[in-house]
This record gives sequence, C-alpha cells and structure tokens, in this order.
Amino acid sequence: MRKNIVAGNWKMNNDLSQTESLLNDLKKETNRRNAEVIVAPTFVNLYPAFQNLKGTAITVAAQNMHQNDNGAYTGEISASMLKSVGVTTVILGHSERRAYFKEDDELLAQKVNTALENDMRVIFCFGEELAERKNGTQESVVESQLKNALFHLNEHQWKNIVLAYEPVWAIGTGETASPEQAQDMHAFIRKVVSDQYSKTLAEAVTILYGGSVKPANAKEIFSKPDVDGGLIGGASLKAQDFFEIVNAF
Ligand code: PEP
Repeated sequence: MRKNIVAGNWKMNNDLSQTESLLNDLKKETNRRNAEVIVAPTFVNLYPAFQNLKGTAITVAAQNMHQNDNGAYTGEISASMLKSVGVTTVILGHSERRAYFKEDDELLAQKVNTALENDMRVIFCFGEELAERKNGTQESVVESQLKNALFHLNEHQWKNIVLAYEPVWAIGTGETASPEQAQDMHAFIRKVVSDQYSKTLAEAVTILYGGSVKPANAKEIFSKPDVDGGLIGGASLKAQDFFEIVNAF
C-alpha cells in the first residue's frame, strides 16, 4: 500500500493549450522513476489531460469535488462526473479550499465518504497555520484534523487514503519545513494512526509532504524515513523542476 508519490497541484493555472504543452513536456521526460507521478489540472482540463496521458504512467487527479452525487449545486462537480472522464484520484482538504471556500472538517468528512463510496483514491491535505506552529500546538491541530475528517473510516477504507501533510505557512511562501520538522510530524501522524487503528495500517499509509518543495530541497526531504513523497504546487508548473523533484527519489 505504501508507495512513493509525487503529485503536482496546478491549482487555477494553465489553460487548455498550456495544459497540453506541459503534459507533452512531462511525457518526453524519460528519466528513471521511483515514484508514482500525479498531475492535477483544473476541472475543464481533466478530460483532455486524461486523453493526453493515456498509455503513460502519469495519473490525473482532480483538485476538489462536491460531496453530493448530483443535483442542484450550480458550478459543482461530482465524483461520478470525474470518474466518467477517467479521473479516480481527488485532492481534498487543500488549505486553499479550507481558507477561501470555508471547507471545514465536517464537510471534508462528507467529501471523503463520497469519494470512497465511488471507489476513488483521496489525497487528503491537512496542516497547521503559522500561529499554531509558533504557539506549539501543531500536533494537536493535525491530530484533530485527522480525527474529525478521517477517523470514522474503517481500516479497510484506508487503502484509498493518501495523507498530505502541508503546513500552511510553507505553502507558496518559499519557506519550507525543515526535513527534520517534516519527519517529526510524519512520525507523529503515523503514531496517531497507529493508536487509532493499528501499527500495520500506520506503516502502510502513504504520507506526502507539501510546502515549497523544489529541486533544491526535494532529495533531503524525501530521504526522511516517514516521508513518502510530495504534493507540489509552484514547482509542478515547470516540467524540468517537477521531474527533478520526481527523480529526487
Ligand atoms: C500546495 O499548494 O499544495 C503546495 C505545496 O504549494 P507550493 O509547493 O507552491 O508551496
């Protein structure tokens, strides 16, 4: 179950032609890969991306989805719509969704349930804010985010959960958690999962780090025993940088 993953979250960047062009560059890259590579373009470009990447080892993920299966939710996208265009992985709980779109733990628990009911894989993001890191409450914040959104799941359902620890103060700021800070938190996350479920599950779950990962720091962060890869924002928009990060494994 546990594997190395490098996922690029493109956020609200890249129109159709830019998407095609970045994907074409990514496909040209022939370096060895010791990690699954995932890209998350914006909704309108998911189907073109899926088509473009057919026959490659690169997976397409959505950046969000709605908690309901269908209905009068103007502007929203459901799990079954994503699946109908070939997308079976979804990022949920990104700090930008939490901050700008007021997604809270309760809503995220519903989204997680819907995704899993639809046999989708969830990349679940969580992490503390700067003030919480400064006042030393980062572990309790992270523990409660996990507890509130994920700990109602049974052990079996966790096979489709990938965790992405993303300290909010490190996202898009250029400030990265040190490899030691990332390792300490990842080890703590495994302990919390182990206490709630089992050591076997805690060892099996993939935990990504996100927050200003770039070619210059990826190797050291990924070398930590409890870090299984990264969720990459800014650096995933440049093919060369992204693949340097992928090849940091
Ligand atoms: C992110 O948005 O998930 C992220 C980690 O962004 P960046 O790499 O730009 O900090």
